[in-house]
Amino acid sequence: MFDRFSDITPEFLQSIGIRSVFVDIDNTLAPYEAPDPNQKVIKWFEDLKNAGITAILMSNNDAARVHRFNKSLRLPAYYDCKKPSIKSYVNALSRLGLDRADSCVIGDQIFTDVLVGKRLGLRAILVPPIRDQKTMFFRIKRFFEKPFILYFKRQQVKKQFLQ
Ligand SMILES: [Mg+2]
Repeated sequence: MFDRFSDITPEFLQSIGIRSVFVDIDNTLAPYEAPDPNQKVIKWFEDLKNAGITAILMSNNDAARVHRFNKSLRLPAYYDCKKPSIKSYVNALSRLGLDRADSCVIGDQIFTDVLVGKRLGLRAILVPPIRDQKTMFFRIKRFFEKPFILYFKRQQVKKQFLQ
């Protein structure tokens, strides 16, 4: 878990042997209502590229949203992924010739982004949503995510304690 996507540095990814990242867009890189990536997002992808890390956009949103957001980034991008379906990921892994062992997912949702990663045996990095949708559906989802986040945090504390 990281506080924001920009805290996930190329150095960190390299230190855990990651060479490709599958990145969610909405609420991970930008709020829903931001059509274009900001400078921070652009810089982050540049840094990844310079470090030799392949980044792929994976979104459940539609083609228009993903194409517009990716216009300046020019990354491999998949829309309408239907996460936690693994179909688009399997497709991307083979088309780009990536190895599951050195790939990870980055996203703001446990039941889509993280789950798809776990189903594929990839490592997963969770960030809190940039702007939470205040709808009942999202509030219910957050409620069910809480125990998983608490469990993870306790494991982290235990690990630190044991070191
Ligand atoms: Mg998201």
